Amino acid sequence: MSVIVPKQCRVCKTELNRHEAIRGICMSPDCRRSDIPFQLAKREQSILADITQLSSSFWSGQLSHKVAYVPANTQPIEALPEQRQKAICKHIVEIVHLASSDKENQLDTPVDRTATRNGISESQARLPLLGSLCSLCEGYCCSLGGDTAFLVPGVIRRVMELQPDLTIEQIENQYLSSIPEQHYRGSCVFHAASGCALPRELRSRVCNDFICEKLANTVVKCEGFESQYVVAAVDGQRVERLAKVDGMEVHSVKIV
Ligand code: SF4
Ligand code: SF4
Ligand SMILES: [Zn+2]
Repeated sequence: MSVIVPKQCRVCKTELNRHEAIRGICMSPDCRRSDIPFQLAKREQSILADITQLSSSFWSGQLSHKVAYVPANTQPIEALPEQRQKAICKHIVEIVHLASSDKENQLDTPVDRTATRNGISESQARLPLLGSLCSLCEGYCCSLGGDTAFLVPGVIRRVMELQPDLTIEQIENQYLSSIPEQHYRGSCVFHAASGCALPRELRSRVCNDFICEKLANTVVKCEGFESQYVVAAVDGQRVERLAKVDGMEVHSVKIV
């Protein structure tokens, strides 16, 4: 089979030398920048092709399913390092102190902000499918939680309002006793093997609201007319896990 080698830059149409022809684009930084969407689309197509191929080998006869993907956390579980344990304990004590001693001065206290949902509506955000697909991903976005888990005095203030009968020490203890012994390496201190070790009502609004772009796109696709999907969890370009979604429910998961 002969490969057609492009003669012109696909952006500016100037003639390409042999080296440039391999990528089909000239060396101009402007052309390289304008080419990013093309490269992303190519990468996306290659990932979707890999998912289709893998899913047909796992579920023969399921080729009518469409494919989509979410990110994948692939970090191993390890003991929460002592230094990080100390850091989160210190942070909790500090924000609880700030929240309880600065009630009148709310402007100076960091508030509990919401995060992007990438266009997902309130009712779509409540679909059980989202939780199932985040489980398939195993919490890639939690790597951003670090040693503070997006917890600010504003979160503690909300918890104090929701649980007015609890003393401030009891609220502090709820957080401290949730710190897991084991977590995903390098991820948020609360990111345990079973998911977030912090009860939902104690988490920041960022944690409770955030929906990544890939998850948002996948939910919109699965909610459409074609509701049978194979959804993959993908790390870079490597497919890690596959799930069959029928009628908005995850039916089976395969580890690749
Ligand atoms: S929001 Fe996205 S990155 Fe975060 S856990 Fe869910 S699927 Fe993974
Ligand atoms: S607190 Fe929980 S949801 Fe938030 S980043 Fe940490 S592990 Fe993820
Ligand atoms: Zn060019």
